Amino acid sequence: MARRGTNLDRVGGFNDAVVLDAIRRSEQLSRVELAEVTGLSGQAISNIARRLLDAGLVREAGRLRGAGLGKPRTLLELEPTGRYSVGVHLDPSVVTVVLLDLTGEMVARRPVDQYADDPDLLIDGIAKTIEEVIAESGALRERVTGVGIAAPGPIDVERGVVVDPPNLSTWHLVPLRDALGERTGLPVVLDKDVTAAASAEKWAGRGGSFLFFYLGTGVGAGLVVGDEVIRGSSSNVGEIGHVIVDPDGPVCYCGRRGCVGESSQPRYLVQEAVAAGVLAAGIDLDDRPAVDEAFARLCALAAEGTSAAREIVVRLAGRIAKVVEDIANLLDLDRVVFGGPHWEPLAPVLGDAVRDALEGRFLLRAVHPFEVTGTALGTDVGAIGAASLVLDRTFSPNPSVVGER
Ligand SMILES: [Zn+2]
Repeated sequence: MARRGTNLDRVGGFNDAVVLDAIRRSEQLSRVELAEVTGLSGQAISNIARRLLDAGLVREAGRLRGAGLGKPRTLLELEPTGRYSVGVHLDPSVVTVVLLDLTGEMVARRPVDQYADDPDLLIDGIAKTIEEVIAESGALRERVTGVGIAAPGPIDVERGVVVDPPNLSTWHLVPLRDALGERTGLPVVLDKDVTAAASAEKWAGRGGSFLFFYLGTGVGAGLVVGDEVIRGSSSNVGEIGHVIVDPDGPVCYCGRRGCVGESSQPRYLVQEAVAAGVLAAGIDLDDRPAVDEAFARLCALAAEGTSAAREIVVRLAGRIAKVVEDIANLLDLDRVVFGGPHWEPLAPVLGDAVRDALEGRFLLRAVHPFEVTGTALGTDVGAIGAASLVLDRTFSPNPSVVGER
């Protein structure tokens, strides 16, 4: 299959990317150590280091005196201000824009205040907010390498189109990538929100093989297997929302009963809480702010230890664990990372409950453990992920993207 170009400026070549990646992973390395970890010759390292220094991507960071012999070694580290990337998270309820420096550190963030259902107005608002975060951070604009967008699926990556995002009723086949590219003059990449979140986790954490379980307006899975972000044949990997986990569960908009997506929604959990007498009756389930408020109360009661409230979250954990278990066993994963706007309020009870529900179900536990964690990146994981897509495509020595321009 022919690979599509991204128009992002990649670093010099594969070996330059390998060296840059080695420096990023270790934070600081000398040229001698770089030759050891990359297998490149001392001469090659010295040429590449010169190029990276000239390009402003790395800087010299003091000297390390070796154990006895020879000259002290100069350490190289990433130059944080060398490049920046913008991340945009198109969440159905709030659009967030962040700016990351070359080390992946968030240096500015801002929600798009001009939230509108109309695509043109919203894209104008996003473009304006991008300029604001760049200005606020003090970054040189010419060092901004590109914009990553994390959008709900399904997406048409080939054409850069958002197909039918939930809760944005007038959005249908919106060519978001090109529209934002025209307004900002920057290269733009589009990916699924869950894939962006998984990519953020990979950049911030330790890679490996894991499932990012996103709990938001709908649920979705991002996958990293053997350190590589998995996208599938059309970049729409991770549609787990309609896996049936409870034959007696609520009717989903797909027409079937007990889908994990529908039965993880605050709306359904609030309904259960009312039925169990945890929350007072009379909440309008079509009123989103009212449901959000009731959901927050339910989560708080569960965290305080109210048993009927806890029970509801424990049952949710059982349904989620069923999906996690199957994917983990299928792909031999070493952990699940939870995130998304609904994760944080549920976390105090849900994390342990999922761990308990998985106890004994993970078939490979005799070979390696399976970890249940929450993202360390908080609610901005989608936006940070979008920006890290740009860093990933520009600076990762991923053999499958070498040659993309
Ligand atoms: Zn369904």
